[in-house]
Amino acid sequence: MGTLEQLGLVEKVLQLRHTTLSSITLPIPGGSTMTLDIEKPLKRLKVKYPYIVMLPQVHFLEFLTSEAEKYSGFHLLMGARVEGLIEEGGEVHGVRYRLHESGHDTWHEIRAILTVGADGRFSRVRQLAGFEPIKTSPPMDVLWFALPRRPDDPENAIGNIGNGHFIAFLNRFEYWQVAYVIPKGTYQQLHTGGLEALRKSVADLMPSMADRVDALQEWKQVSLLSVESNRLPRWHRPGLLLIGDAAHVMSPVGGVGINYAIQDAVVAANLLTAPLKAGKVSDHDLGKVQRHRELPTRVIQALQAQAQNQVVKRALQPGSGFLISRPLQLLFRLPFLRDIPVRLITLGLWPVRVAN
Ligand SMILES: Cc1cc2nc3c(=O)[nH]c(=O)nc-3n(C[C@H](O)[C@H](O)[C@H](O)COP(=O)(O)OP(=O)(O)OC[C@H]3O[C@@H](n4cnc5c(N)ncnc54)[C@H](O)[C@@H]3O)c2cc1C
Repeated sequence: MGTLEQLGLVEKVLQLRHTTLSSITLPIPGGSTMTLDIEKPLKRLKVKYPYIVMLPQVHFLEFLTSEAEKYSGFHLLMGARVEGLIEEGGEVHGVRYRLHESGHDTWHEIRAILTVGADGRFSRVRQLAGFEPIKTSPPMDVLWFALPRRPDDPENAIGNIGNGHFIAFLNRFEYWQVAYVIPKGTYQQLHTGGLEALRKSVADLMPSMADRVDALQEWKQVSLLSVESNRLPRWHRPGLLLIGDAAHVMSPVGGVGINYAIQDAVVAANLLTAPLKAGKVSDHDLGKVQRHRELPTRVIQALQAQAQNQVVKRALQPGSGFLISRPLQLLFRLPFLRDIPVRLITLGLWPVRVAN
């Protein structure tokens, strides 16, 4: 939100249909709950918009591209798949891409002083550049599916933990986007158990949703996200920079992937505008972007690994109702410690501001 404000876009984003999240409620031993307040720590950090905005990514991306189109130098080519790098003298000078039009493929080239691979978790550019990420395997996978939403349903995201599962319902206005977290590698077993067992588990975890689990009729309504977390030891080669998920896939813990990808882009723009205007971006310039962004990324990934081991792994143990250990509960209550996770998730290790 801070970045959007610096770009003069925040009011327009808030006009898009959205919901806000200012606290998260988690179950604790003994059947009660504890609330992780987001609003108060963000206010203490003097953040102007002290909440998380939830809106469908597709609407946000449509909005961003429509704003970008106001710049004469912006050109968006939909349906173009990068399949090759133009490499000359050990430097990357652009990409080769395939366009599928009127039933057949055509091949094209774009030459550039700098190529930025921002092509996500399965980055083709990363693969073409020969970069191998260091992988860690979080202990969970996520099933995604939609369930109907009723007019009298709550506005906020809701969820629960129990019976070795973790479930979250995200408000998508007309429907609930449901994330059902399962222990890593157990999808096949779940599938063999049949859809009725999944429907029953969802209804047991969220009795208020039991009246609509029948909307799940076929497995093809359910998509499996194999959760992975990784990072590149090196984000650049002469003429090429990787940012966002292409450089570091984040675990879903804390929902930081978009923040960290946007912050990479802001830092890259801040540090590379002058060299780009001068017509030459050195490998040293690209290294500065990595140096600025790598530590915040590694710190949040370490924090996510802790949360996975301390919270998610416990929650995914069959029969476990025990979510948050006592030391962690204490951490959330200590004034100087409790704001650290919220700060790292929302702002990162240090603030990132749009330079111009
Ligand atoms: C199911 C799911 C739910 C998530 N929920 C959240 C959340 O609630 N909050 C959060 O912060 N993060 C969430 N994330 C993570 C978040 O989506 C990513 O961290 C973020 O989108 C990364 O941004 P990016 O620009 O690096 O890559 P992406 O957003 O993945 O964008 C990559 C783009 O590159 C394009 N592309 C790929 N290959 C090629 C090619 N060969 N040629 C041309 N273009 C190509 C893709 O089509 C895509 O448009 C979620 C991820 C998943 C999978």
